[in-house]
Amino acid sequence: MSSLLRPAAAIFAALVVAAGVARAQTAGSPTVDTIVLAMSNVHLVRGERVVLIDAGGRGDLAALEAALAARGVAWKDIAAVVLTHGHADHAGLAAEIRRRSGAALLLGAGDLPMAAAGHNDELQPTNLTAHILKRFALDPAYEAFAPDVAVGDAPVDLAAYGVRGTVRQWPGHTPGSLVVELPDGRAFVGDLMLGGWLGGRLFATRPGEHYFHADRARNLANIQALLQRPVTTFFLGHGGPVTREAVMRAFGTAASR
Ligand SMILES: [Zn+2]
Repeated sequence: MSSLLRPAAAIFAALVVAAGVARAQTAGSPTVDTIVLAMSNVHLVRGERVVLIDAGGRGDLAALEAALAARGVAWKDIAAVVLTHGHADHAGLAAEIRRRSGAALLLGAGDLPMAAAGHNDELQPTNLTAHILKRFALDPAYEAFAPDVAVGDAPVDLAAYGVRGTVRQWPGHTPGSLVVELPDGRAFVGDLMLGGWLGGRLFATRPGEHYFHADRARNLANIQALLQRPVTTFFLGHGGPVTREAVMRAFGTAASR
């Protein structure tokens, strides 16, 4: 190589390295920001685009809009909303968010009837407190919708929405409950369990059993099965996040990573 060509080669090599770095950054782990609404959490997952996990309740629109704006997110930035299940405090604003953003709605196939009705299924209490709570159950109705993607037996890759991660159906809390897993061990599990006292901010990092499950035994089995996977942090629909170790303590398992 002549001495004239050498600097050009060096510049070319530097460009190749720079391009590699840029690729590594865009291919890196998404950032996660949890927005705590009146009755539930919405998780803002930012990769190349924005994916929301859950949509809040129908009274949360102003609070959600303000929280997104405070984080520099416009409605049009949202590529998809993954609804962990069809209960009113998680799917309540799904139709409204789609109208404003054009985002794709992803829902578990088992919860299609709930979304079509715009109404919770019959809550099945898991303990005495739950029986009492059920009498005060919050507004079970919301705007009905049909999702753009019904997640069935096959996992769905979120890469199409700019986030490295997969979503799959884990029937238990509801027939179509979904779990989103990121490659770095973070998982979004909806109402698979509750964080904190009554799912609130008190003791938020302490996991416990949710008050209502369509299929309690199957939900408990899901927790054990997820502990067999490389999940390190569980982001919840209420309270949380909780660590793998805390989940193992709360649900009495010796499952190892
Ligand atoms: Zn629920």
